[in-house]
Amino acid sequence: MKTDILIIGAGISGATLAERYASIGKKVVIVEKRDHIAGNCFDHYDQNGILVSKYGAHLFHTNEEEVWEYVNRFSDWYKWEHKVIARVDDKTVPIPVNITTVNTLFDVNIKTEEEMQTWLNENRVAFDPAKNGEEAVLNRVGEVLYEKMFKHYTKKQWDKYPDELHASVLERIPVRHNYDDRYFSDKYQALPKKGYTKIFEKMLDHPNITVMLSTDYFDVKDQISGYEKLFYTGPIDRFFEFKNKNLDKLEYRSINFVTEQVDQEYYQENSVVNYPGQEVDFTRIIEYKHFGNQQSDKTSIVKEYTVDDGEPYYPVPNEKNQAIYDQYKKEADKLEDVYFVGRLANYKYFNMDQAFKNALDLFKTLEPAKELAI
Ligand code: UDP
Repeated sequence: MKTDILIIGAGISGATLAERYASIGKKVVIVEKRDHIAGNCFDHYDQNGILVSKYGAHLFHTNEEEVWEYVNRFSDWYKWEHKVIARVDDKTVPIPVNITTVNTLFDVNIKTEEEMQTWLNENRVAFDPAKNGEEAVLNRVGEVLYEKMFKHYTKKQWDKYPDELHASVLERIPVRHNYDDRYFSDKYQALPKKGYTKIFEKMLDHPNITVMLSTDYFDVKDQISGYEKLFYTGPIDRFFEFKNKNLDKLEYRSINFVTEQVDQEYYQENSVVNYPGQEVDFTRIIEYKHFGNQQSDKTSIVKEYTVDDGEPYYPVPNEKNQAIYDQYKKEADKLEDVYFVGRLANYKYFNMDQAFKNALDLFKTLEPAKELAI
């Protein structure tokens, strides 16, 4: 089979590059190992008629005008400001930590931003700069909240304590000095009206694009020829393991999603409830019907257990893995017309909007004269 552009993976990065290249008249082949498009954004309607995500909740948020404009080409979106609550010591509190969190857990009566700032100053343990995730949390909220809300959740999520992870992992969660209980602060926070999979269907619905599902690139690579460029969005170490056995394997975390059907209208009061303690093994429970206030007589919930083995979802950001990644990056840079794109290939904990942005930026860099084509 011949093509101009060969793309491995039909997630955000692959679909964005496919859509862009098809729009400037290139023939594109996407090879996708799974039996569906949309990568980890894949969603579908379940037996209760509820739109659920196969690989965990995906909350879109961005401050990038360009990305927001781009995703609006493929779907209508409704505003959705995500909130998360956590069960801590038999209490239910907002996360990120805000005034309500502190008042509820410590039985205090903070009312103003100044009082919250004072409470945090009295409790925090200063580290400047924070060298790891533990220091990052201690620096912001101090030891007690670290223990109650971050230490064990992180151990369950990564099988590492926060001091074994890069500070940026824990710094994803802000601390609020007010009552704001939104998980994100971005200008645009929204969900696609008909789900994410529909977006990918629309992006890939072009006569120039061929998608080969249920196909492992490494099984068919010798059958595809003539391409100008190859975009690889899978785990970077998988790409090289056949060539260079001297490199170490990168760590990735996977999630075991355990769905339970519940014969009642609602199971919990919010879409996501975190369990940061040691009393249960899962990190959080998702009840999808809350997203977009979907209606049904019954509901289902998904418990997330993070595991070592399985499909790779998360890179594990720390110094050791960064050093291993750098070795692969060196190999990657030696290749001509082969580009490594996205969370798994760049070994970066990208959010969805960053994945769109990186793919759009790469296209603009490679095709500067043609970027405006729609
Ligand atoms: N985290 C935590 N307690 C929580 C929520 C998050 O300790 O209740 C830490 C944990 O290390 C987690 C990181 O913050 O991996 C980032 O959380 P986020 O919700 O961004 O993770 P994601 O939704 O990407 O899985």
